[in-house]
Amino acid sequence: MSSGHLWRFFSCAVLFSSCSVVSVAQNTDGKAPPVLDVHVHAMDGNFPGVAPMCPNTSKFTASDPKEKEAPFGWVKEACTPELYPSAPGEYMKDVLAEMERLNVTAVVFGDPKSVEKWKDAAPARIIPGTSFTGGMGTGQHVALDELRKDFTTDGFKVMGEIGLQYEGISPSDPSVDAYFALAEELDVPVAVHMGTGGSGRANVMMPKFRGSMGNPLLFEELLARHPKLRLQVMHAGYPMIEEMLTLLQANSHVYVDVAGLIWSYPIKEVNRYIERLVEAGFEDRVMFGTDQLLWPKLMAYSISVIQNADYLTAQEKRDILYNNAARFLRLDTAQRK
Ligand SMILES: [Zn+2]
Repeated sequence: MSSGHLWRFFSCAVLFSSCSVVSVAQNTDGKAPPVLDVHVHAMDGNFPGVAPMCPNTSKFTASDPKEKEAPFGWVKEACTPELYPSAPGEYMKDVLAEMERLNVTAVVFGDPKSVEKWKDAAPARIIPGTSFTGGMGTGQHVALDELRKDFTTDGFKVMGEIGLQYEGISPSDPSVDAYFALAEELDVPVAVHMGTGGSGRANVMMPKFRGSMGNPLLFEELLARHPKLRLQVMHAGYPMIEEMLTLLQANSHVYVDVAGLIWSYPIKEVNRYIERLVEAGFEDRVMFGTDQLLWPKLMAYSISVIQNADYLTAQEKRDILYNNAARFLRLDTAQRK
């Protein structure tokens, strides 16, 4: 386990609480309808001390600065653990088996070597992504030429996850403009972490993290400079719904994903947030994602949140689970129906 991997683990909301039952509807031929997960991490699952996880925590606890190591966003309430980590070394295999069972194709992010391992293991199910930001808040960025090579000769398709918020800087900061200019030039979509910090993100492990740098309106200057940029606002800028809707109104080619937030916040809040995006008229720009990183059954669980959403029509569920991402990624649309 490299420290880079450990950082990637903590790049995503990881919270714990009450559990729900997972069920996935199937076609009569036994095959689940296709799903696109636009937000998966190329992890190997070899994390010491990773606990079983109960998604959709019901609350966050306060911490005391005199405690040396405050638990990160951790709620110690009674709960029957539902999602388990894989046995050491089995994680990728387990997730790929789940993807096969659930008929999922995923955009997988990480350093090029880790992503290629996933791609080699399941070429038809993996859309490779990589980024210029490394560990959270380190400020170390991949050389521009290296990134250009990833996209022009090595087959990478999406630039992400871009974690500038962990460095406390805005996506419109001139210091990173060359990377976005490259994405625009190569017509590669960018996927930027925006929002979701869980509870105490800046207190524990990520002192440079700034909630204010998750404001979706921070994209405005960047998009003005690069009008052809194809932007995926990861985590849908949660919880800044007003700012997110404002950006969606101003820029009609901006999409959001609901990864991370879909399983790491109270379920009522999650549904309210997604419903708000849809009811404001932006249903066709909401993409399904998990932030899949440690527990193989998380993907099925997250799909069930959309499938169980009583405020979505059957068509809206299909759009969120597949069609919107297929349009955003410009995939062959033959399997949309
Ligand atoms: Zn993220």
